[in-house]
Amino acid sequence: MGIAHASDKGTHAVNITIDDGPDPVWTPRVLQVLKDNGVKAVFCMIGEEAAGYPAVVRQVVADGHRLCDHSLHHDTTMGRKPPSYQYSEIVNAKGEIERASGGVKPLYYRAPGGAFTPYSRQIAASIGMRPLGWNIDARDYKRSGALAIVSTVEHELPNGPTILFHDGGGDRSQTVAGLAALLPRLRQQGYAFGFPVR
Ligand SMILES: [Zn+2]
Repeated sequence: MGIAHASDKGTHAVNITIDDGPDPVWTPRVLQVLKDNGVKAVFCMIGEEAAGYPAVVRQVVADGHRLCDHSLHHDTTMGRKPPSYQYSEIVNAKGEIERASGGVKPLYYRAPGGAFTPYSRQIAASIGMRPLGWNIDARDYKRSGALAIVSTVEHELPNGPTILFHDGGGDRSQTVAGLAALLPRLRQQGYAFGFPVR
């Protein structure tokens, strides 16, 4: 199963993807910006965080967004570890996310740090999750400001539709501000907002 990069809304579209949550502070703020702009996104959740904040997971689902398995512990070296470990990181995260969501399944799998292996892609696909990559890294983790996020994404739009942001891992105020500035600009430029192909 290949790694998904395309959008289900065609060639003049973007897919917003939000990684490393759920977070009790920042995920609701990201959800509000998405709602304000009428945009649906994919939330790539860490399994143990989903287990810790099930109400946040349920809010993501209630708002019409899709879920993605981002492994149980976000171990970016997992691709170099034994297959049994990779298996449990992927499958147990799926279980935690489904339990937290009230039975809504993650439709994608994104390896932590993007470190897919053929084996991890195969596991994910065998349990109904399309491996999900990205084309544009908003680099919001650098904390260079909301304007830097906007200019990075707009500069890299020719790379493809799937854009990576983060709602976990600390203070995400710049991500929230960056999305609030970027989403209306993309809509003005005629971009549709879609989901990654399955
Ligand atoms: Zn991540």
